[in-house]
Formats: sequence, C-alpha cells, structure tokens
Amino acid sequence: MTIISPYLRRYQRNIIMKGRLFTVLLFCLCLFSCTNADTTSLSKAKAQTDANENFGLVIHGGAGTILKKNMSDSLENAYHEKLKEAILAGHSILEKGGASMDAVTAAINVMEDSPLFNAAKGAVFTNHETNELDASVMDGKTLNAGAISGVTTIKNPINLAVAVMNQSEHVMLSGKGAEQFAKEQGIEIADPSYFYTERRFQSLQRVKEREAKMKQEEINKKAAFAMDPFIKASKFGTVGCAALDKNGNLAAGTSTGGMTNKRYNRIGDAPIIGAGTYANNATCAVSSTGWGEYFIRAMVAHDISALMEYKGLSLQDAASEVIQKKLPDLGGTGGIVAIDNKGEVALEFNTEGMYRAHMNAKGELSIKIYQE
Ligand code: ASP
Repeated sequence: MTIISPYLRRYQRNIIMKGRLFTVLLFCLCLFSCTNADTTSLSKAKAQTDANENFGLVIHGGAGTILKKNMSDSLENAYHEKLKEAILAGHSILEKGGASMDAVTAAINVMEDSPLFNAAKGAVFTNHETNELDASVMDGKTLNAGAISGVTTIKNPINLAVAVMNQSEHVMLSGKGAEQFAKEQGIEIADPSYFYTERRFQSLQRVKEREAKMKQEEINKKAAFAMDPFIKASKFGTVGCAALDKNGNLAAGTSTGGMTNKRYNRIGDAPIIGAGTYANNATCAVSSTGWGEYFIRAMVAHDISALMEYKGLSLQDAASEVIQKKLPDLGGTGGIVAIDNKGEVALEFNTEGMYRAHMNAKGELSIKIYQE
C-alpha cells in the first residue's frame, strides 16, 4: 500500500491536470465558434445590407443617329414617358425584393408593347414586309440563358426567351419550332398584323427605293439586307435591360425586330448570348444595341464581363474599352447598358444618341437620349 500510494497520487494528479486542460480547451473552442458564428452572420448581414443599398436597373431603347434637330418636342416627350414607365415597372419589382429577371422582363414588356421601339409592336420590317423577332435573357446566378429568333407571332418575345430558359433543356429555339413551343407553354400569341406600324413600313419603303437605285452587283457585294450608308444613318431601336436585385443577383435581356430590310432569315446579336445579352453574378449584366453583325464578331456583352473577370477592370473601363475602341476598330456602331454586382452602371455608346435610363436603390432616376 505504502509503495503503491505515490503512484496513485501521481495518477490522480495527472487525471486532474488533464481534466483542467480539457475544460480550458472546451471553453476556448466554444468561445472561438461563438465569435466565428458572430462574424459569419455579421458579414452575411453586411452583404445583405450592401445588396439592399445597391439594387437598381438600366434600360435602353436603341442607339444610333438620334439628333435633337430631328426630334419634335412631342416625340421626345413620348420617348421620355415610355422609358420612365418601363424603368418604373422594373424598379417597383426590385424595390419589393423581387428577382432581377422579373424586373428585366417587366421593363422590356413595356417597351415591346410600344410602337416607339424596334421590338415586338414597333418592330422593323424585313425585305418580305414581315416582322421577324429575336430576344434573349440570361440569369447571372445560374448562368442559365434562353433565346428565340425569327418568330412572327409572339406578342412579347422576351417572355418566350424566359420560357425557353426555364421550361426547356435548350438555350435557343427559332422560327416555327419556337412558336410551337410558345403555344405549348401558353405564351401569348398575336396575329402577324399586330406588328404592323405605318412608320416602320414607310422606313422599309424608303430603304427599298434607295436599294432599287443601286446596281445589282453592288447589292450583292454589300451586306445584302441593307446598304452601309443607310445603316450608318439610321437608328437601332432594340430594347434591353440589365438589373441587380436585393439578393445580389444580376439578369439581362434584349428584344428586337432586327434591322430594316433584312433578308434570308438574318439573325443579329440580340438573341446571341455573349453578343447581345450576358449576365454573371461574378461581374455584370449587359444588354447591347447596334449593328448586330459587329456585336456578334466582337462578342460585346461577354467581352465586357471577361475584361472585368480576367483583367480586373471596372465596369465603366471595360465598357469603354469595348464600345469606344474594339467595336469602332472593326467598324461597328452602337452601345450597351450594364450594371455590375455592386450596382455601378455603364451606359456607353459610340453613336450620336441612345435612348437610355437608370434608376438606383434610392429611387434616383435619370433618363437621357442624346450624347452629353
Ligand atoms: N442589334 C440589333 C440587330 O442587329 C439592332 C438594334 O440594336 O436595333 O438586330
């Protein structure tokens, strides 16, 4: 017993020491996890506040030769009012905590329903005196996208683009197939005569008269759907929207009738993901308007996002680089509206004007038409 007891005492001391050490360790662990949980929830809350502070949207109604001297006061006023109605439709959704994609479609629907813009109701005419409509959308969170081209009976093409994204396993549908899909999805169908507007029909007649004066060989040499001088002197009336919602999600969409006098089922940039529309929560959301062939070749919308992602450029610097350098170097004209994941916006164009508007989380609204 006398021999064992020192061992026992040492053993007892060991147990007590280890017990104390364990308690201290347990206490530290609790403290750490509590602090960490606090920091995580704090940073989550901060991100949420930031997103709440920065939501907003930008829209365009086309870029081109839009000069004050060619615009009557009443027409200018009509554009202002419609742009305001469109941006308010999108903003009220964002304000209530709605999704950026819903804001994009609501804003675009207003412009599609107006004869002022080259989309749906106000679409330009093809060489065959029909209206062929293109549209696309992209969701910045999932990188899902939907697009349709060459449809002639869809009242709001942007809604069909959303249905392609959400209800099919495809990204792009065209022509009759897209219209069949629209019927199956219960998308509103319109008789082709709904898209007739006298103003657009007369534009087509003017282009055709000029074209008739050209020799056939010249027509063949040029991009056959329209002449360079006409395109350079005309305006592009495509509509588009890019939005950031309170959850920090970006979305973009674009809808158009394409270009006056287009032939051969020509498709422009508007339904091409990466050219006419792009959205990525890591960078920005972009919608384009302009001479589509150049926007496709320059991959304008994705290029802006890529400059931010890979080169760390700000949205404004990326947009200037593409619209003021890369695009004109190729010979392309037009512009974009874009919003980044912090709510910064860019409304960049290399033409005389672009119908455009921006509204931020504070409800500050700016509507512009001409260059400043
Ligand atoms: N980008 C459109 C197209 O080429 C035209 C426009 O912006 O008005 O089809």
